[in-house]
Amino acid sequence: MPVRATKRGVDRTPLSGDFDVLVCGASFAGLTVARELRASGARVLVLDRYEIGERQTSACAAPTEWLRNLGLEPAIRQTFGSLLVHTPRLTARWPLPWTFSTFDYRQLCELLWEQTGDAVFDIAKVEGHTGTTVHTDRGDLHAPLIVDALGWRRVLGPGENVQPPEARLSRGLEVHPEGHGDDLELWLDERYVSPGYGWSFPARDELRIGVGSFDPHIPVKQPTLDLVRDVAATPDGYQGNWIPHALRPAAEDGVFFAGDSAGHCLPLTAEGIRTALYFGIACGRELRAVVEGRQTAAQALQRYGDFSADHAWHFRWMFRAQQSVRHLHGPVLDRLTRAFARPALSRWGFEQYLRIAPPEFALPAPPAAGRAVGAAAAA
Ligand SMILES: Cc1cc2nc3c(=O)[nH]c(=O)nc-3n(C[C@H](O)[C@H](O)[C@H](O)COP(=O)(O)OP(=O)(O)OC[C@H]3O[C@@H](n4cnc5c(N)ncnc54)[C@H](O)[C@@H]3O)c2cc1C
Repeated sequence: MPVRATKRGVDRTPLSGDFDVLVCGASFAGLTVARELRASGARVLVLDRYEIGERQTSACAAPTEWLRNLGLEPAIRQTFGSLLVHTPRLTARWPLPWTFSTFDYRQLCELLWEQTGDAVFDIAKVEGHTGTTVHTDRGDLHAPLIVDALGWRRVLGPGENVQPPEARLSRGLEVHPEGHGDDLELWLDERYVSPGYGWSFPARDELRIGVGSFDPHIPVKQPTLDLVRDVAATPDGYQGNWIPHALRPAAEDGVFFAGDSAGHCLPLTAEGIRTALYFGIACGRELRAVVEGRQTAAQALQRYGDFSADHAWHFRWMFRAQQSVRHLHGPVLDRLTRAFARPALSRWGFEQYLRIAPPEFALPAPPAAGRAVGAAAAA
């Protein structure tokens, strides 16, 4: 188990203060929101229960162009122009019209953080909010603009938070043994999981091997171990999490939700990094317009909520595909797997898929202002 860099003992001093924007969660979505506020003059506090980049939450594969457009290329470990897909009876190579890259989570988070300019970071566990006050285990913080980028738990959401396995969530588990590979590999194989899929993503000197189930009731530990055994690797460095597969309101109860907290992870593929970056940028732009006096907080909530909801049909479509996967076994699955090996179909399918959150949405970060380093307003 990794040692977690949370603040302990005397370091866990009371925390208080007033800010313009409180970004809760310092992973893909939260850091991207803060990045968009760079040089806006806003007093931005980013909170997380762990140090930035300390706790990897995924296999960390994303479209290369997204990483490049955000200036995150140094974090890339390996790039792939195709997917190698296995069913129990055949293996097919799906050519991609664009590339996927695996990356180093800590390095990527640090690069994003560097681009946030004068934002301030501190460690605290976020517990809830009342109006414009966010309650943490270290004290209360205040801001007129609050972002929940805390992942699937949607900690700042109103009402009872539905917990797994009843919540509309998938689940995933992976291990990170040392190893090398040339291909991004997927297993559509009911011997491991149905409905769901297995994967092995090489990242230079390690393999990220895991299994995801679209049904939260189905355990994924044994299937993961089975897949690891079958690809002749040794299980090492477990990490797992719940993965939302239903969109939720992105603006609710006066709070902006971005990334998994808004269900922005795509059903079927469980690709949630690109969309966390995409909706994080959209959210940050709306917040920036408030900070610069171009709109009110209420208008920003409305516009951002509408922007997210405009994508609902993509998520519904992907969810339908996810639901139908459970009926795809045997010859039907094989025919579909072979069909996607044809460049014309693959190109069409993956281009449509990329358009859901297109890479050109990621513009370079706004110019830097002076950087304030260090802890937040510790009382
Ligand atoms: C095994 C697995 C593999 C995956 N592989 C991929 C992949 O290869 N590509 C891809 O695109 N997607 C992948 N996903 C999905 C992807 O990980 C998520 O969609 C993505 O991480 C969402 O980003 P986020 O910023 O919204 O939330 P998260 O990355 O979950 O970040 C939430 C942040 O909030 C912090 N936090 C949570 N609760 C609190 C609290 N109470 N107080 C303070 N801080 C808190 C956490 O420490 C964390 O830093 C995978 C998921 C799993 C489970």
